[in-house]
Amino acid sequence: MDLLNTLRKILVSIPLCNRCLGRQFSSLIPSYDNETKGRMLKDLLFMSEKIEKEERSKKSLRVFKALAESGHDYSQNFIKKNSPGLKISPKPCYICGSEINQLINKAVEKIVEEASKAEFDTFYVGLTLPISLEEKDEKVKSFFKLGFGEALKNDLNREINQKVGKLLGKKVRMKRPDVLFVYDAINNKVTMQINSIFLRSSYRKLVGGIAQTKWRGMDSNDVTPSIEKMLEEVLIPAFKGRKLKFHGAGREDVDVKMLGDGRPFIVEIIEPKVRNIDLNNLHLEFNRRFGNMVEVFPFTKTSYLDVPRLKKEAERRRKTYRIIFETEREVSEEELKEISEKLTGCLIRQRTPLRVLKRRGDRVRKKTVYQAFFKRLRDNLYEAIVTCSGGLYVKELLHGDEGRTVPSVASLLNTKVKIVEMEVTGIEGG
Ligand SMILES: [Zn+2]
Repeated sequence: MDLLNTLRKILVSIPLCNRCLGRQFSSLIPSYDNETKGRMLKDLLFMSEKIEKEERSKKSLRVFKALAESGHDYSQNFIKKNSPGLKISPKPCYICGSEINQLINKAVEKIVEEASKAEFDTFYVGLTLPISLEEKDEKVKSFFKLGFGEALKNDLNREINQKVGKLLGKKVRMKRPDVLFVYDAINNKVTMQINSIFLRSSYRKLVGGIAQTKWRGMDSNDVTPSIEKMLEEVLIPAFKGRKLKFHGAGREDVDVKMLGDGRPFIVEIIEPKVRNIDLNNLHLEFNRRFGNMVEVFPFTKTSYLDVPRLKKEAERRRKTYRIIFETEREVSEEELKEISEKLTGCLIRQRTPLRVLKRRGDRVRKKTVYQAFFKRLRDNLYEAIVTCSGGLYVKELLHGDEGRTVPSVASLLNTKVKIVEMEVTGIEGG
């Protein structure tokens, strides 16, 4: 391909603005934006025609005219001086109607205005363009067999992102930016999507009667306090978020305490308008308000990728429970020693417990008890310390769940077992 011939052919056939011309050759020189590239190409053609004109005169007048009509100022001045009788009527760009730079400026202005509504460090701008615009650009590329160009959307995306970034002093990030703007060029409208913030911590539940998450069932009158609700009260105002989502590394029952180093969790703050907060004070604020029931450890920033990891880890992690229970008949020290030995290292086959059958499918889980100690407290009251795989239903391990958990403390002792109190005392690696 001869560059000058191609340029001549394009511009004599259709008027193109600098940016729309530059874009058709954009990969030839990576530096410069397409506006500058287009200008350079027009200058180049102008210079080449000047040489031609010296030698062959008239023929090149068509090219000067085309250049002048596409907005090239040197060509306009040249014609004024050398062919004052020739009439020049500026023609709008075939692709964009000479409105592309205006489109860019309008988009940038709208986005910068919208950006003042939220705090962020990274952003990305996406575009909705009139189809006809992209179609015309493609048509030019295929008609003149131009293989060095880039797509119109690329050009505009890059230009707008760069300009917005410079004006706001923020970083452009395509993958998972803090905020995503979508500019609709057809209606000159912009929407802002604020991505969630993820914070990681662990909680200790010092008393029973607290749910991990808010009740989401039909009965909206449930007033059981929840850790999620407490976090909401502290974090939503701090981050000016719209909502909060709790992701726990497993969960314990409402009546079960969570002690030791606590249970890890990730809290997702949805649509936060504020992002840069001193995390050192947040857990103190939480503990000041709710520390008599629930304590949290310092929060650290984390990513959405850690949510599925946290859930997977929870399954694998060993947990240690302390359970106080009653038996129907008195159990001897000898028997207690015997079940300690039987359960330590024992594989437990557990069908989905009756109490969760409504929410979960009926299947058999195989879990391991790594260690079990039993101690008599008084009369028919005993204490058990059990370390087992994550996901083992410990209440059922004790009472047997009508034979659905095998073996169980109840079946091994051949008596009924009633749980009085229970707490998680440790989560491995928590
Ligand atoms: Zn154009």
